Amino acid sequence: MRLRNVTGSREVIAGSRFVVPEEEQKRCPGRWRERFGNQNPLYIEIGMGKGKFIHTMAKEHPEINFVGIEKYSTVLLRAVQKMEQEELPNLKFLRMDAEEIDQVFGHGEVDRIYLNFSDPWPKDRHSKRRLPSREFLARYDRILTEDGHIEFKTDNRALFDFAVEELSPAGWEAKVLTYDLHADAALMEGNVMTEYEEKFSAMGNPICKYVIVRGSGSEKDEIAKRRR
Ligand code: SAM
Repeated sequence: MRLRNVTGSREVIAGSRFVVPEEEQKRCPGRWRERFGNQNPLYIEIGMGKGKFIHTMAKEHPEINFVGIEKYSTVLLRAVQKMEQEELPNLKFLRMDAEEIDQVFGHGEVDRIYLNFSDPWPKDRHSKRRLPSREFLARYDRILTEDGHIEFKTDNRALFDFAVEELSPAGWEAKVLTYDLHADAALMEGNVMTEYEEKFSAMGNPICKYVIVRGSGSEKDEIAKRRR
């Protein structure tokens, strides 16, 4: 998602108390709970867009700390404006490229990662930029707690098939996998719709979702060996 240039968006982001300033980001690893002032679990959404999902989640779960990450100021601006209308103490934002995610969160500091309707980057040569790619899974592996998990939703079947194929080589396995989330009453319990989910499900597109954890048994040993 890229919005047309919004005059002053960079300045608003730079001056917002809801956004961690770029010069402070390098001091964040291992200190998120201190920043929130409590010991609550930490959930993050990467590529949050205008922030509808994470704002709703933070409102529904005051016992959890949330961090929303977005690359573009023009898009993040909408999330900041939402916070100005309804401030939540357990939600903060980062304007950054998720390629540097493991420089902003410490080893095993994040309990859950949400990827919602990530950009598909359809050209093969751009596959490393896809947020559920094995390159990104390796970054998530560094910041997630031992029993942390990743939830990914999309209506883009090609991207979802790619994401599923990445799991085994990267040492992850699916606990939940559906090609039609909205047809599954049990999985829909507590489901918070994102902006893209509302738009594409209204057009009749089925929504795919997985929930993944690190692989078990010998696969896990193999990954541990590779990490050494
Ligand atoms: N998650 C929202 C939803 O489901 O409605 C927005 C989906 S939109 C298609 C994807 C968003 O991810 C865009 O706002 C884009 O700028 C952001 N994004 C893509 N790659 C990113 C990256 N490497 N780091 C941070 N944000 C990224």
